[in-house]
Amino acid sequence: MTTPTIGVLALQGDVREHLTALAESDALARPVRRAEELEGLDGLVIPGGESTTMSKLAVVFGMLEPLRAFVRAGKPVYGTCAGMIMVADKLLDGREDQETLGGVDMIVRRNAFGRQNESFEAAVDMAGIPGGPVDGVFIRAPWVESVGASAEVLATYDGHTVAVRQGNVLATSFHPELTGDHRVHAFFVDMVRRAER
Ligand code: GLN
Repeated sequence: MTTPTIGVLALQGDVREHLTALAESDALARPVRRAEELEGLDGLVIPGGESTTMSKLAVVFGMLEPLRAFVRAGKPVYGTCAGMIMVADKLLDGREDQETLGGVDMIVRRNAFGRQNESFEAAVDMAGIPGGPVDGVFIRAPWVESVGASAEVLATYDGHTVAVRQGNVLATSFHPELTGDHRVHAFFVDMVRRAER
């Protein structure tokens, strides 16, 4: 397969770090700000940042439904932290008017770790990632309160689910894009390569 083209949702958040991590993982990466820019993408990353702002901007820029359609079409999507919140079917401790795209049958609690500890790093063993634990960077991070039968838990930390996959949607509570270690991005690029196009 030729090099996959992967977009990074660039409404808000740590877009540049994902673009770099993807480019260093053998993908063509480009920022996505408008619905038309979803055209021709083989996959999409939703970055870390602030999910309430991301939700608001997605509504303002008319991106909410196009993004939902992208996920529904079975296109590979990877959400980190705020991005994990965006791909949750159900959200706890969100703002009242906060929208998610859905995609993973899970209940995510926003700022769950944040209440205990604003920001920390921890070694996380993640299924499918060879070479030992990844350095999990958690920043006001959500955790997954529960998953449905079709979602697979890939990692837990301190008894809480912090990485899940359902079909072509991947989500982590932590930020691999902020470490120099691109194994999780390589895993996602591989998911994109294997996805039917
Ligand atoms: N707490 C943020 C939110 O609600 C997520 C933080 C992050 O992405 N680092 O979106």
